[in-house]
Amino acid sequence: NRQIQLASRPAGEPSAENFRLVSTPVPALAEGQVLVRNHYLSLDPYMRGRMNEGKSYAQPQPLDEVMIGGTVGEVVASRNEHFQVGDKVVGMGGWQEYQLVDASQRGVLQKVDTTHIPLSAYLGAVGMPGVTAWYGLTQIIAPKAGETVVVSAASGAVGGAVGQLAKVRGARAVGIAGGADKCRYVVEELGFDACIDYKEHRDARSLSAALKSACPNGIDGYFENVGGMILDAVMLRANAFSRVAMCGMISGYNGEPIPMSAPQLILVNRMKIEGFIVSEHMELWPAALKELGGLVATGKLKYRESVAQGLENAPEAFLGLLKGRNFGKQLVGLI
Ligand code: NDP
Repeated sequence: NRQIQLASRPAGEPSAENFRLVSTPVPALAEGQVLVRNHYLSLDPYMRGRMNEGKSYAQPQPLDEVMIGGTVGEVVASRNEHFQVGDKVVGMGGWQEYQLVDASQRGVLQKVDTTHIPLSAYLGAVGMPGVTAWYGLTQIIAPKAGETVVVSAASGAVGGAVGQLAKVRGARAVGIAGGADKCRYVVEELGFDACIDYKEHRDARSLSAALKSACPNGIDGYFENVGGMILDAVMLRANAFSRVAMCGMISGYNGEPIPMSAPQLILVNRMKIEGFIVSEHMELWPAALKELGGLVATGKLKYRESVAQGLENAPEAFLGLLKGRNFGKQLVGLI
């Protein structure tokens, strides 16, 4: 069993040296346990926070242990009556090829149906990122038909779902993404009404001018994934009583400061700004997954994946995710 451990903590930007690839024997099964061959590992921005020492909303990842991470795979051996060899499952298998799970604990391993939904989608549109999009959009922004919703990192796992869910609710969806290819995909494939390439703008004023033409009626809801200049630009176009779902601020994950240039606009526009952590709302996951699964199975919710093949390529793919080199949900293919 090959696995990737956290070897050291980064100061600022992480590098490949922070990770270590090791081989460990596949352990023997005890009663109640299940052995899973992981097919895909999910790489997610929250992992950057866990590499730090200090306690954030998530516990730090211990050094010299396998990196935490969501996985999908297949049961290859079972001493648990609820799981059979061949079952497809989603769990938190970590950055490794095999995962030994004490499946008697409820919820550590979920069986999934791959008849109409590809296994990998359970790490993306029909998994944690999809539920994140659903929660911030429906519980915080709660768009009415005809309102305008803007989302940053719009071609990504979360952002792509946000705009499509907004369209389902009759809202105007406007994306912000890095680069012409990503913007074209967001409009032509995902069906957003418009998408702005923030890399073409040097400051918030210029970006907000572009937002003005993409959002002629102003902005009623903003789904924040990035922070910094993009948030400043959106604030300049925000309508009275607009809502901001504070989901992520990836531009500051390596410790960069993220000043807000005009916080007085929160008052002037009577804005509601609410942060959330999707794993703290487990009671809403079934409803979210039901809608997301239905939309994916019927082709109404589209997504794209970047797959790095082989566990040894996980660190580079993760570093790329933090720099926007991914295009859609970043996965590592393990078989
Ligand atoms: P994505 O698939 O969107 O990948 C990350 C994207 O962020 C990159 O593709 C890039 O897009 C953009 N990005 C990276 N670095 C920067 C930067 N310095 N400045 C601007 N943009 C940058 O990832 P996810 O969909 O998985 O996650 C999106 C956000 O949601 C993250 O902030 C994440 O932390 C957050 N999140 C929060 C959760 C919660 O419970 N609150 C749960 C899950 C995710 P581009 O090329 O377009 O710039």
